[in-house]
Amino acid sequence: MTEAAIPLADPRAAYREHKADFDAAIERVLESNSYILGAEVQAFERELAASIGVSDAVGVGNGTDALVLALMGLGIGPGDLVATVAHTAVPTVAAIFQTGAQPLLVDVDQYGNLDPAHLAAAVMADKERRIRAVVPVHLYGQMADMPRILEIAVAHGAVVVEDCAQAQGASMHGRPAGSWGDAAAFSFYPTKNLGAFGDGGAIATDKPDLAERLRALRQYGWKDRLVVMPGGQNSRLDEVQAAILRIKLAHLEADNDRRRALADIYAARLPREVAPPCRENTRHVYHLYVVTCPDRAETQRVLAAAGIGTAVHYALPVHKHPGYNGLVALAPGGLPRTEALASRILSLPMYPQLKAAYAEQVAEAVRRSLGL
Ligand SMILES: *Cc1c(COP(=O)(O)O)cnc(C)c1O
Repeated sequence: MTEAAIPLADPRAAYREHKADFDAAIERVLESNSYILGAEVQAFERELAASIGVSDAVGVGNGTDALVLALMGLGIGPGDLVATVAHTAVPTVAAIFQTGAQPLLVDVDQYGNLDPAHLAAAVMADKERRIRAVVPVHLYGQMADMPRILEIAVAHGAVVVEDCAQAQGASMHGRPAGSWGDAAAFSFYPTKNLGAFGDGGAIATDKPDLAERLRALRQYGWKDRLVVMPGGQNSRLDEVQAAILRIKLAHLEADNDRRRALADIYAARLPREVAPPCRENTRHVYHLYVVTCPDRAETQRVLAAAGIGTAVHYALPVHKHPGYNGLVALAPGGLPRTEALASRILSLPMYPQLKAAYAEQVAEAVRRSLGL
């Protein structure tokens, strides 16, 4: 595969920007003789929790495990329904499956996030009260309508686990993503807003007793080496990634500001109905910049010819994947908005080191593809 002249994402650019710091941190860990769950992970967990405004953060192996462990730690398992969206990365739904619970898929609102009105309808139809958890996904870096989602979930006795994999540093009414639900899952996959140079994830929670259970569950169920709890796995954040993430976290605010400045460049040049809708009172951190195209194939063709990388997040809503056919439940009325979106969305290049002049070129190419 040849690299696009303007790639969709460029995690190596982040390494090069602070190369000396990363190299020194990696060497420090390698010389420390402590490689798993040591001082770097502890320090990162403290710094991460503080940045989200919660009591605890628990480092784990990846974002998918963070969702699985958060749900398991909250008692979700076989027989339960967990409401979430189909317009998301597959791991959101795969993680629910891994707990033994069944995903119940709800349609999205005009911002592409879990629609509170449709959630309310699903809850109303849930006479047996099997919906025990709700997993809103803060898609592309913009928060779902948490005040309304929380109100509906709490009234139904369901816990809320935020999928913050795409929303590190986002907020709503000034309150950070990850501080709203009972727990929140974060991913440090290299292209995420807070990306490691490998796999990593974390669970944030303001419930110290849950954090204690999660610290046991991530490591074989050890409370200490003499007392174990069942359901334990091995999903640990390692010292090298934690040391890298501490450096990345210190730059997160500035990096998110750069993403927002690039989004402003795009929005100033693209027609309103093509640019992504932005909710009031939210800080969007543009993990992805996703436009809505009248003719996606044509826009993709024009951009590819200009050496511009694009991708579709996500071409198939989860319930349309053959492997999930019949395994997921759909909320009453189905998912018309989700299905309509899938054929028109297109992700444009977006990463902090993307030069403004390049973003202008991308926007011009999109305009050309629209005949403007
Ligand atoms: C990336 C992502 C995940 C999974 O994270 P991994 O670290 O790759 O396991 C889950 N949910 C969403 C919305 C994501 O974007």
